[in-house]
Amino acid sequence: MDALVSLSKRRGFIFQSSEIYGGTGSCWDYGPLGVELKQNIKRVWWRDYIQRRPDMMGLDASILMHPTVWKASGHVDNFTDPMVDCLECRRRFRADKIDETPWVHYCPATKGNKFTIPPGEPCSHCGVTRTLCPECGKGELTPPRQFNLMFKTFMGPVEEDASLTYLRPETAQGIFVNFDNVLQSMRRKLPFGIGQIGKAFRNEITPGNFIFRTREFEQMEIEFFVNPLETVEGRPADEYWHERWIEDSMAWFRRYGLGEENLRLREHEADELAHYAKRTADIEYRFPIGWSELMGIANRTDFDLKQHAKFSGKALTYFDEERKEHVVPYVIEPSAGVDRALLAFLADAYREEEVRGEKRVVLRFHPELAPLKVAVLPLLKKREDIVRTAHAIRDELSKDWSVVYDDTAAIGRLYRRQDEVGTPYCVTVDVQTVGDQAKGEVGDGKVTIRDRDSMEQIRVPLEALGSVFRELLGGAAWASVAGRFERKGDG
Ligand SMILES: [Zn+2]
Ligand SMILES: [Zn+2]
Repeated sequence: MDALVSLSKRRGFIFQSSEIYGGTGSCWDYGPLGVELKQNIKRVWWRDYIQRRPDMMGLDASILMHPTVWKASGHVDNFTDPMVDCLECRRRFRADKIDETPWVHYCPATKGNKFTIPPGEPCSHCGVTRTLCPECGKGELTPPRQFNLMFKTFMGPVEEDASLTYLRPETAQGIFVNFDNVLQSMRRKLPFGIGQIGKAFRNEITPGNFIFRTREFEQMEIEFFVNPLETVEGRPADEYWHERWIEDSMAWFRRYGLGEENLRLREHEADELAHYAKRTADIEYRFPIGWSELMGIANRTDFDLKQHAKFSGKALTYFDEERKEHVVPYVIEPSAGVDRALLAFLADAYREEEVRGEKRVVLRFHPELAPLKVAVLPLLKKREDIVRTAHAIRDELSKDWSVVYDDTAAIGRLYRRQDEVGTPYCVTVDVQTVGDQAKGEVGDGKVTIRDRDSMEQIRVPLEALGSVFRELLGGAAWASVAGRFERKGDG
């Protein structure tokens, strides 16, 4: 994890928010390369799930909603964690997690010496277990109190209870409250889904682990509505579609580079299921912090639509033409965090390799996710014709892809820099490309393309660059493209 955090900062992926003021708890800013990576994740998600599927549509609901939404959803009453406060240092802890961190102890058996003791263990000198504040080691703790995780705010100029509302803790409710709008305006038949990408906020007591758990985060959520009266392949429609979404979601993460061995499915036990959920499965990823939830796929039944119908007084039903009756659809909810997905893609792509006796750090991003697709590098920056050609290539390729020009170091160094940020291809322009007028030599009009993963190089005519990158960045294997061109030594 430390390697990822440090690379992220050094190479412009992720910075701590408000760092010059000492930072804020668990907020992070995406730098120039981080924002590209994040947008690529969201773009392929939107394309694969919303654009390409005939049964899906998009939505962008507002972050601030009517406060009753959160009563109906259960968040006002149930979205809480039990908290205890230290009476001495005023720090606040989650009562159910307090013994998961090391604790400070002033041991009476050793003249009050200060020890930091591993989580959950007793003192090896006096044998006591933790009862006081784990941070300062001195304060008594209050009894647990329920603390709501929603961020409160006020609508309008007056800070009074009547104008109290919340920053949404999930994007899902924006979809539920628009169910009828979408149904009527788009004239849909079940099953269909509505997808949304957007920010959500949770006042987590113990955020941390870099961008894994943050108070402000982005979600990619789908609510897929099915007719509970129907059966598909002999199974109730909701169960069939739940299974399909689990398989699709797993396949999606694998397609964009997460290793099979780093992904697993975890079914929620009966006692951890939300009371309205029929079944929930988490896709877990082996993060640097261990196996943790990457996304959840829940069968939320008709709970949400029924709750909103009850609180709003509006019917949120679907008319089943075949059976001539109104039904409340069931909902399958595949819900993923953008930031968490980004951390998984980053962790899975990170490699330290040894190349010709030197360490090479490389991010083996899927080309569609890589923040930069191509780097154009002039071999000699003093040769005006080489530099001009390189700039022209960058300008041309950047019409379709994110492409950089870099001449700030020697070529070997430039390659390593691009490897480190996961750029799949480099193009170098050299003397051979442009020739040498002083010696009466004409250039061959070819440039070198270097592949990040194999480090193989091929010579490609300038006029073929566009079509070659269309193939390579469109998913063609390097070997199948490289075979058609002249090979050069590895770079
Ligand atoms: Zn304390
Ligand atoms: Zn002790």
